[in-house]
Amino acid sequence: MAEKDGRGGEEYHGAACYANTQVALAVRATPPTIRQPMPELPEVETTLRGVSPHLIRHRITEVIVRDKRLRWPVPDAMHDLEGQRITTGERRAKYMLFHTAKGTLLLHLGMSGSLRIVPPDTPWRKHDHFALTMDTGKQLRLHDPRRFGAALLIEGDPQQHKLLCDLGPEPLGPDFTASHLKQACSGKTAAIKLVIMDAHVVVGVGNIYASEALFMAGIDPRKPAGKVSLPRLEKLVAAIREVLAASIEMGGTTLRDFLNEKGEPGYFKQTLRVYDRAGEPCRTCGTKVKKIVLGQRSTFFCPKCQK
Ligand SMILES: [Zn+2]
Repeated sequence: MAEKDGRGGEEYHGAACYANTQVALAVRATPPTIRQPMPELPEVETTLRGVSPHLIRHRITEVIVRDKRLRWPVPDAMHDLEGQRITTGERRAKYMLFHTAKGTLLLHLGMSGSLRIVPPDTPWRKHDHFALTMDTGKQLRLHDPRRFGAALLIEGDPQQHKLLCDLGPEPLGPDFTASHLKQACSGKTAAIKLVIMDAHVVVGVGNIYASEALFMAGIDPRKPAGKVSLPRLEKLVAAIREVLAASIEMGGTTLRDFLNEKGEPGYFKQTLRVYDRAGEPCRTCGTKVKKIVLGQRSTFFCPKCQK
């Protein structure tokens, strides 16, 4: 079931604070109950891919701020983007970055945010807080009932911005290696699951993905990080990549949803191995999946397969 929203860490300090505030419900096997899913790295990547064709190389004709009270106030300078062309777009951790000559638009979906592309005469929904009208005649709208999302304008190099500068490597990028992880784990008595969910070590490994990857690698989530051998960390790195890449791939099939009437992003019905399966048989050995709380987060594992 849903964990309580640990609305802690309000500091303006990278994705580490988000790691503590996740309601990790994005990936469900069965049944497909609709609950509030929190956008994780795969959903953000899918969102970026979905909206990019409507934004990249197009000009912003109007910036609309309907409610500036997001996680941080939407700056008045955001209107400087009017008339600017978006040259490129990229994702860093769970931030989407859209570059223009006047600065970089940073968007974050927070806990409940979503983007959609609509004709400008589409009726506004409650919680549509921010929008860009593009010279394509379409509008990008940020919808965010809980307002943990963000829309900021960054001048200068966005990688040096305080939200981004301390982040660890991308899990699917070349810098996330077993030796990097070994170094991060070295001498640590903290549980391995907490280390891989630390955005200073690697970004984007949310609660679901951490449980799933540790199962795939056969590692007990409670194991002290410093005691996990390099070969096992190699397996873990591969598992993290695999579970995230699989989710992104599945998200690709839902891209059209960004343009449909409701505009809800697609969430991935990946078959879960252990997450949210407490008491159910392990898919490998049949042992009952166990649920514990680790670092205030629900943690699922097979006591037989994971050592
Ligand atoms: Zn098992």
